[in-house]
Amino acid sequence: MTITGPTTGDLREQRDRARREYDELLTRGLSFNLTRGKPSTAQLDLSQELLELPGAEGHTAADGSDCRNYGGLHGLPELREIFAELLQVPAGQLLAAGNSSLELMHDCLVHAMLGRLPGGQARWTDEERVAFLCPVPGYDRHFALCERFGIEMISVPMTDEGPDMDAVERLVAEDPAIKGIWCVPKYSNPTGVSYSDRVVERLAAMPAAAPDFRIFWDNAYAVHHLTDEEVEVADVLAACAEHGHPDRAFVFGSTSKITFAGAGVGFFGSSPANVDWLLAHSSKRSIGPDKVNQLRHVRFLRDAEGVRAHMRRQRALLQPKFEAVQRILDKELGGTGLARWTEPEGGYFITLDILGGGAADVVRLAAQAGIALTPAGAPYPYGKDPRDETIRIAPSYPSPQDLEEAVTGLAICARLVGYERALA
Ligand code: PLP
Repeated sequence: MTITGPTTGDLREQRDRARREYDELLTRGLSFNLTRGKPSTAQLDLSQELLELPGAEGHTAADGSDCRNYGGLHGLPELREIFAELLQVPAGQLLAAGNSSLELMHDCLVHAMLGRLPGGQARWTDEERVAFLCPVPGYDRHFALCERFGIEMISVPMTDEGPDMDAVERLVAEDPAIKGIWCVPKYSNPTGVSYSDRVVERLAAMPAAAPDFRIFWDNAYAVHHLTDEEVEVADVLAACAEHGHPDRAFVFGSTSKITFAGAGVGFFGSSPANVDWLLAHSSKRSIGPDKVNQLRHVRFLRDAEGVRAHMRRQRALLQPKFEAVQRILDKELGGTGLARWTEPEGGYFITLDILGGGAADVVRLAAQAGIALTPAGAPYPYGKDPRDETIRIAPSYPSPQDLEEAVTGLAICARLVGYERALA
């Protein structure tokens, strides 16, 4: 059987149809935003009770201490207990900190620059070169941190089970300037990929030329399932310890997308030596975290099962939005050969790849029609997508109806760009 592609005439017809649809889109004065993975108001409302907690009389922690006062740099033990299980970090090695995990990542970089890491020979500022491996596509704010501190970024491709480990092992073994790798191990931003056991094992076991090499294990979506297939990722701290690299992993997490994105709690977990290292530095920066907020989280979430139950309520709001995006992309772009997209089982994002390039044009056309998207290239170091293919869709924030209109509009832009390029 011979399969023939569309004729030039067919392509012209498709292009003209997409052009008409796009022109119609322009007349509608749309104003939609699919840029950032923000929880919707309905999601935030699920945690409304937090605003009443811990209540006028409820400021005493389990150990009898007064949460209104200074101290408790490790964070509340009862909150660390709850998240120990969910983040796979023993409670004694887990810190509950401020309202953001990104600030903990920032601080770890700053402290590594200015204070020698356990196992390291020099502060990173005293090294000639400092580089990080960046699995791509990845999280733009990780890359922004590297840019901020002059850390060179080396891209490695993502596969459907994590970073390309042949490339990672080779580079890390060879180059002592490579001090770290960014990893979002579960329902990764933006691809939705979760790391296989084999990948975790290889990351833990691989020889590193830098004695102070660190895995920045950003487990932002640890409990953010969208299907009944709740993905479990292997325990990175245990794997590193088993392979004789107990200090290799820094684990980060937060309740930003569990409770309130601006008023949650961030966590840091690692080996005892790394925890002591961070505490030694952070004790200069603060006398202790906001324990009242931590206490209200304990009262609200209660235990690990309480977090899981809460996340099932989050899923009930998010899953229909993710399904709607799939349905629209299938309808508008399925079978065209112009694009491919991910079907994540959790997390916050769908990536749409514009095959053969043109993502920046699609984003530009969408912006002109009032549909704001994350800039094309953002999921790559220095904002440069070498193939100009990847667009990140964040379905959580818009209302279901706005989301449908916005994604339909995006798909029209993708068809218009795709057919125009095919005819060029
Ligand atoms: N890490 C990843 C992978 C994210 O996608 C995000 C937010 O989108 C964050 C960290 C931010 O986390 P936080 O709010 O705890 O600073």
